Amino acid sequence: MVETTDNSAVLALRPGDVVVLSRDGLDALISALREADYDVTGPTVRNAAIVLGPVSSTSDLPVGYRDEQSAGRYRVVKEDDERCFQWAVGPGSWKGEFFPSKQEQWRAVRSGETYTFVEPRFESPSLAIFGARPCEVAAIGVLDKVLSQGTYGDARYVSRRRDLFVVVAECGAPASTCFCTSMGTGPGASDGFDLSLSEISDAGGHRFVVRVGSERGGAILSTVARERASSEDLVARERLLEDAETTMSRRMPSGIAAVLAHSQESPRWSEIAERCLSCANCTLVCPTCFCSDVHDVTDLSGAVIRERTWSSCFDLEHSYLHGGSVRASGGSRYRQWMTHKLSTWWDQFDASGCVGCGRCIAWCPVGIDITEEAALFEQDAQLPEPEASAR
Ligand code: SF4
Ligand code: SF4
Repeated sequence: MVETTDNSAVLALRPGDVVVLSRDGLDALISALREADYDVTGPTVRNAAIVLGPVSSTSDLPVGYRDEQSAGRYRVVKEDDERCFQWAVGPGSWKGEFFPSKQEQWRAVRSGETYTFVEPRFESPSLAIFGARPCEVAAIGVLDKVLSQGTYGDARYVSRRRDLFVVVAECGAPASTCFCTSMGTGPGASDGFDLSLSEISDAGGHRFVVRVGSERGGAILSTVARERASSEDLVARERLLEDAETTMSRRMPSGIAAVLAHSQESPRWSEIAERCLSCANCTLVCPTCFCSDVHDVTDLSGAVIRERTWSSCFDLEHSYLHGGSVRASGGSRYRQWMTHKLSTWWDQFDASGCVGCGRCIAWCPVGIDITEEAALFEQDAQLPEPEASAR
């Protein structure tokens, strides 16, 4: 561990080192990232929600804000609080940074009787994501499996994602909708970051315990005035994470993948469909849903533009084959979504498609809760088989 408050320190910080920054130190870290030509993007407050946007100093962060989330409900509340990360997750995930909701694929430009096909140039400035939650970093890992590690990678995703600098903010204020602990994705960060922040505010003052996760994370942090992390700082971080874990009441049953694999004919799907509006909110806010569709549109100049937009398994067209939709009922569409997320994703990508962020619970207009539904399927699976004569 390096102990210094001298910016000209000769010893660079290394992975595994732990230091403490003041809020001024955090501002210096943001400046150092910007000076290293990173576009720094992080949580900001806009339109009464915590959403992602450019961050040039800590005053752009949601200082003093907390969020209130429950099934079908999201609110932000401003308090007299110096903390920057006293909230859980907002409606927008980092998915949109690498996989925008709408992208032009190509356009055919008319000139007389001929058309010329033009592919848009896409710039990929180096991106630093600042204040991502551990579950969100896990979600990026899931998207990587889908969009960059298969046979056919998505070129724009790969290019935007390639040099990503990750500053994770460990979670000290989970929402009531969070269940990352049961998914193994939070509230602490174990890997996938360059720097990990834990915000502490106690008798020892307001500060950030910062763990180094990579060589380049250590190199950037080495340029910033910092102090050695004391044993009290380390204990305070542990306590922050323990408190976060104990406040999380929702959980995902551990055997849900196998349960859903054997629940294809359950009457529960129709029962859920009586409540579900097929609005697709749950898929749009989900940080791992990756389905897309393509449409051809025209503009007033006569150009034809092929656009790719996010799609959803709740959309009837999503399963349209010649003659009609394969999943015509709401129950079959919810079954597709939930079973893919929690069960067949394992077969396809050797991972869960859910990281426990709870967004689909908060943003479902009728308050359908994936953890509650999973618990009911688990309960059904434990019931004894009915007697043959009663079947
Ligand atoms: S399924 Fe729901 S809780 Fe799981 S990652 Fe998606 S939005 Fe988050
Ligand atoms: S589960 Fe909720 S958010 Fe998802 S499609 Fe149905 S009503 Fe919309």
